[in-house]
Amino acid sequence: MSTPSSGIITGISGPVIRAFIHAPVKMFEVAYVGKSKLLGEVIRIQEEYVDIQVYEDTGGVAKGEPVSFTGELLAVDLGPGILSSVLDGIGRPLKVLGKDNIYLQKGIHLATIDFKKKWHFIPLVKAGDRVESGSFLGYVIEGSYLRHTIMAPPGTRSSTVLWVASEGEYTVEERICHLDTGEELSMKQRWEVRHARPVLNRLPFDKPLLTGQRILDTLFPIAIGGAAVLPGGFGTGKTVTQQSLAKWCNADIIVYIGCGERGNEMTEVLEEFPELTDPFHDAPLMERMVLIANTSNMPVAAREASIYLGMTLAEYFRDMGYNVAIMADSTSRWAEALREIGGRLEEMPGEEGYPAYLGTRLAQYYERAGRATLLGFPEREGSVTVINAVSPPGGDFSEPVTQASLRLSGAFWGLDKRLAQQRHFPAINWQQSYTLYDDSLAPVFEKELGPEWKKLKSYLKGMLDREKVLTDLVQLVGRDGLSEKDKWLLAQVETIKVVYLQQNAFSDIDASCSMKKQLMLLKLLHSLDDMVQGRIESGLLYDQITDFPLRVELLRLREVSEKDMEQRYELWLKNFDAKLNSLVVVPE
Ligand code: ADP
Repeated sequence: MSTPSSGIITGISGPVIRAFIHAPVKMFEVAYVGKSKLLGEVIRIQEEYVDIQVYEDTGGVAKGEPVSFTGELLAVDLGPGILSSVLDGIGRPLKVLGKDNIYLQKGIHLATIDFKKKWHFIPLVKAGDRVESGSFLGYVIEGSYLRHTIMAPPGTRSSTVLWVASEGEYTVEERICHLDTGEELSMKQRWEVRHARPVLNRLPFDKPLLTGQRILDTLFPIAIGGAAVLPGGFGTGKTVTQQSLAKWCNADIIVYIGCGERGNEMTEVLEEFPELTDPFHDAPLMERMVLIANTSNMPVAAREASIYLGMTLAEYFRDMGYNVAIMADSTSRWAEALREIGGRLEEMPGEEGYPAYLGTRLAQYYERAGRATLLGFPEREGSVTVINAVSPPGGDFSEPVTQASLRLSGAFWGLDKRLAQQRHFPAINWQQSYTLYDDSLAPVFEKELGPEWKKLKSYLKGMLDREKVLTDLVQLVGRDGLSEKDKWLLAQVETIKVVYLQQNAFSDIDASCSMKKQLMLLKLLHSLDDMVQGRIESGLLYDQITDFPLRVELLRLREVSEKDMEQRYELWLKNFDAKLNSLVVVPE
């Protein structure tokens, strides 16, 4: 192997450094820039000149200072200790000091995981066993319960275990396994963040990632291994929705990449996540989570790299057989970093100033999502599901970042400013949003919830489609001009919107809604509709039922647990039926 190159700084433009090189370098090769050895990555090569994006503040760096290249691409150390951590865009652990300071010293190359800490290793193989890339070697328990599997890293040749460490305490650097190929393995492995970790086979999208959010699970479900984009203007609920999903979705591991616009935005996230308890385990949510924090005062190049770092961490946990959800809030801030760096390189800008390769770079992230069977023993599958928020300026979804994200994802959950202004939350616009996973997930939902699920879902869709027709009609003839049935239907659509589509992220019970509860609520709304429509056909007037505090009662039901709802459900319907019976039908 040739020795890595070196060079001299010839120009500085914000986060981009130009250097004259003494020997060839690779695209994306990592470099140490200037006397203070700031970390950077080669992003353009032009004969004997290169441009380097620097992950740290380049203030104080001067022309003529040296650059040394490493021969390596940007990589991260993977192993026990990743979970619960807060990292910067290139994987350095952040020390969060007080409220407003996210602090990291310049030029310090901290490892992602602690090399000194000892972990209790339990072997899963013995001498004589065959292993290969991805095979399980043993595990440690991270936090209070999470099994962090130690795997043979990708690239391990098929071999026989000669020796494995006995159960005990080891650092991530100590040898825990010796193979007959001569390879010695420890609990840590290194991976280049811009490259996808290999899998055996990709699997179809036939399992839902349940979010606990009625509008999403019922109308616009996402598959495990799929990708969803959540665009919305300022204040429409991107962060609240992403946090609800992180807390309530049925993924095993969450990787959350925060790209804050203003300094305090990220601080909120950094303060709030560690406070959250995990609804599925008696432990803090952070025990199965990694936070990557990009604040506005951090160099933009680190932000550019952060999504690939996050994806690499997600893939690593996928390889253990976990379902991982990765969330970025927001992709627009990431794209702005790309635009700024592109501008510094004086590249020909594409649409709205973004570099022409915006879509390609984004694809290099989205394409790594998926559900797959994994390398090595035992046979297993794992997944990475992407849920990315986008913050289009002015809430205009036709802008390049939203459009590029849309092309790469199968579900589109559009947040609507008008709904947010009406305090209709989650402000997901049901007319604009869509999912491409519906057909492949339908059999699973049907199996789980019975054949009536399909019927109820089309009832819901039908009612929402009717809304526009009815409101148009009201504009033409006035509410009083509507037939009794249409008056009722209009009211029922409103009830559905309030009771079913709205969901309060801050309510203890309603923050998440199980599929079974979604089924019961929908069934209730449908049965109610049937009952009333039947009576209206026999002459009941709409005004006769307006005295029932129907919506309020249904809203109260939303706040009961699944179990209580199961018990009250029939009784509630019976009572309602009795109330309807008590009304005198006005003879025609
Ligand atoms: P964005 O990230 O798009 O700027 P936020 O996620 O900060 O917007 O949401 C703005 C506000 O909207 C929140 O402070 C909260 O009051 C309200 N909100 C959003 N989603 C919900 C929800 N599901 N339930 C209740 N309130 C919500």
